[in-house]
Amino acid sequence: MKSNLNLLSSSAAALAFAAVAFGGMAASAAPCLKVTLTGTQGGPPVFMGQAGAGTLVQYGSDENKCGAVKLQFDTGRGTTQRLSQMRVPVGKLNAIFITHMHSDHTEGLGDMMQLRWHFNSKGPKVDLVVSEDAKSPRGHVLSGRNFAKHIGDALIQSGEMAQRLAENPKRLPGGPADLINVVAFPPAKQPTQVWSSGDVKVSAINSRHIPGHASYRVDTPAGSVVIGGDAGNDKPKPPRDASTSAQVEKLAMGADIIVHSTIHPVMGPGKGSGFPPPIYFRQSTATDLGAMAKRTGSKHLMLTHLIPPMGAKKQGPYPIPGGALDEAGYKSAVGAGGFTGNTIVGTELVTLQLPAK
Ligand SMILES: [Zn+2]
Repeated sequence: MKSNLNLLSSSAAALAFAAVAFGGMAASAAPCLKVTLTGTQGGPPVFMGQAGAGTLVQYGSDENKCGAVKLQFDTGRGTTQRLSQMRVPVGKLNAIFITHMHSDHTEGLGDMMQLRWHFNSKGPKVDLVVSEDAKSPRGHVLSGRNFAKHIGDALIQSGEMAQRLAENPKRLPGGPADLINVVAFPPAKQPTQVWSSGDVKVSAINSRHIPGHASYRVDTPAGSVVIGGDAGNDKPKPPRDASTSAQVEKLAMGADIIVHSTIHPVMGPGKGSGFPPPIYFRQSTATDLGAMAKRTGSKHLMLTHLIPPMGAKKQGPYPIPGGALDEAGYKSAVGAGGFTGNTIVGTELVTLQLPAK
């Protein structure tokens, strides 16, 4: 009898552990979804300390400050610093998702993984969710797998890793790459589930920007959010319906929140910036994003990866026609697309929580 009781209590303990580990919670705790922009810089330039592109999506309840599950989408420069401002240790991220292999979305990962290796070498590993290797028509291959495999190579080659292992041989011998569990998914034309934990489900769709670009959607009982990344229209230049991606639109149907990289129409060809047209055309404009958010019935549009940044007189070497843009300049561009919901013009660490507090 005693052993049966023990068995019962240990089963209950195991269930409770599973509920915590997989982000489930008691029926009485109201679920919540929290979306934070960890970096809003658009492209390789740097402006006024802005971090590179990234979005932290958290799900949970009041009991865990809405943070039982922590998912990072893109890891631009400075992501570690932004997470530290939110008191989120990199070792607590459950999974990292990458939209595409451009440095403004990836270059913070080396820093994050080195930090995790330094202090959390015992694990757990972090899932790195990326598109399968994608070959460009020009022959080059974009590979999240290789990026992960070689994430610590410069530190290994410099001798630092051998030195640190000599100090503490309990660390993983292969360096930070040993702490990454690559979850690579094939490109899909329809939303396809690529990751889940309890009530949190993440789906992806292949979208255009560079080969291998993916956009993501997180569905939870508290709401849903789409992270479009730098997606643009399949047609690389006009004539076309819009600059936005039909795949992202499909993914975002009925989603509560859309987070999307944004270019302001003022950077378009013939307006005096000199910004290269092919780079302008492969992004989505604020106006077209407003129109898309209206069509998808979304309540919130979070603009990020702003080209140009608010307050900047230049995007890299390219001057902004008419001078620096502000929040109103971006909001009026979105409004011109017909969106009447809540537009958030991205600033560092701006956060949106559902349900609203
Ligand atoms: Zn970018």
